[in-house]
Amino acid sequence: MTAAAALCLVGLSAPAAAQISAARIKEHVRVLSSDAFLGRGPAQVGDGKTIHYLARQFAAAGLEPGGTGGSWYQEVPLIRYDRVGPVAISLSVGGAALPLQTGRDITASSRIVGETRLERAPMLFVGYGIDDPAIGWDNYGAADLRGAVAVFLANDPDFEAAAPGEFGGRTMVFAGRFGAKVEAARRRGAAAVLVIHETAPASYPWSQVANSDPAPGFGLVPADPRTPGFGLTGWLHRDAAVDLFRRAGLDFEQLKAAARQKSFRAVPIGDARLSAKFTTTAVPVISRNVVARVRGSARPDETIVYGAHWDANGIGLPDPRGDTIRNGAVDNATGTATLLEIARAFATGPRPQRSVLFIGFTAEEKGLLGAEYYAANPIYPLATTAAMFNLDPHVVIGKARSLDLIGGGRTELEQDLVRVARRHGLRVDEERSPEAGWYFRSDHFAFAKKGVPALAFRAGRDLVNGGMAAGNAMIEDYNNNRYHQPSDEFDPAWDMAGARQEGQVAFELGRELANSRRWPRWNEGVEYKKVRDLSAAARR
Ligand SMILES: [Zn+2]
Repeated sequence: MTAAAALCLVGLSAPAAAQISAARIKEHVRVLSSDAFLGRGPAQVGDGKTIHYLARQFAAAGLEPGGTGGSWYQEVPLIRYDRVGPVAISLSVGGAALPLQTGRDITASSRIVGETRLERAPMLFVGYGIDDPAIGWDNYGAADLRGAVAVFLANDPDFEAAAPGEFGGRTMVFAGRFGAKVEAARRRGAAAVLVIHETAPASYPWSQVANSDPAPGFGLVPADPRTPGFGLTGWLHRDAAVDLFRRAGLDFEQLKAAARQKSFRAVPIGDARLSAKFTTTAVPVISRNVVARVRGSARPDETIVYGAHWDANGIGLPDPRGDTIRNGAVDNATGTATLLEIARAFATGPRPQRSVLFIGFTAEEKGLLGAEYYAANPIYPLATTAAMFNLDPHVVIGKARSLDLIGGGRTELEQDLVRVARRHGLRVDEERSPEAGWYFRSDHFAFAKKGVPALAFRAGRDLVNGGMAAGNAMIEDYNNNRYHQPSDEFDPAWDMAGARQEGQVAFELGRELANSRRWPRWNEGVEYKKVRDLSAAARR
């Protein structure tokens, strides 16, 4: 932080009234994650109920509508893709069929409306599937991918490397994300992509992949509707992949090790051929971001954004208890509840100098779609949006001595976080699993890509009762047994002290910035800085 910037931060201490309440957060979580909201699936029955609840709560807290046309909403036009009818998938290798069962060995979806058909498409193993000119990493080389199936590993080449390499160690880089790889394969003319599922690099178990196989997919309406969608994308279970490679005379572990080298280029998987045939329908649907605003007293055209995704995973396949509602109590009723509570604190305190915007985003679980839509169609200019704070906590834990920073090393906002946290006796820890690529997995990323300095952090793991061991155990239990499942349900025994700490720090961070003239910056060398610099003239 520059000296000038630091000067802007002095004073503005909180009036005693502006406090974040654990009890109010808890009550919102209880309501939002109740079965009546049906898992808050976008464009499902729970959608309307959820957005009306949020609008009512914002109104009751004294905020003004911040959406389009003076409403509480921003319509987000989506397309829902459903796989309908039977799925025929077959794989031959070495003159014999490799038995494949959808959901058990392989998953398949498509963005081609109508029939997706592959006929004996050759299969190539493309390592980590990365084509990143910035670092000169190209797994495709001269290989002909046209009409072929690109088979790749999850994550990036440093994930299991002994020492950090070109990809910055265990922290996942964007090129390691599924979407980036699909794009790389599409550029090379591939007709299909299959990711080999291994739990650690994927960061979630096969059960989750299998559960989402028959579920509809969602996308934003393409800029050019004539652009054909991408064909088959899916996961291949590790056991099936190992078997496939073995029958093709290849050694999976050996190739995986080779794929960590920069020199690795795509190799044909013997004579393997994949055939597939299924039908996909596309239906336009509308979901909504919920937008509320506290208008700034001095510089209303300058904006601070708080965001939390209101959606969860809606109705799905029954779990062993027969429960089909994926309530999303932690993910992300807690973040949404904290958003409401921070909004209330702003509305009841002295009016900030800059405007403060609160957005409940839809369809985060479908690929950050609500946030991507807002970032592409901002209601308030992004050039004068000073910062975005994202609330997507992913765990309910008790009072902590720490906060977890997601994707550190990117912006000055992180120093602000450290300073405000310290005021509350909280230490800021780097996230524990940077290899999971969390920075790319929630709504702040849509803003970062557009250059808006964005910060994501969570309640920490170092619990006052039980320390790190207790916090880690709680998070592990959540990730293994509840995350995205019907069992992510409200528990009346929850201690929301950690959520309150997180909310209080987020509130004070935004309030400082809303009462300053400061424009937080990206760190030197961070890719989003270039985008931000393009609009520098708009910020004085
Ligand atoms: Zn979430």
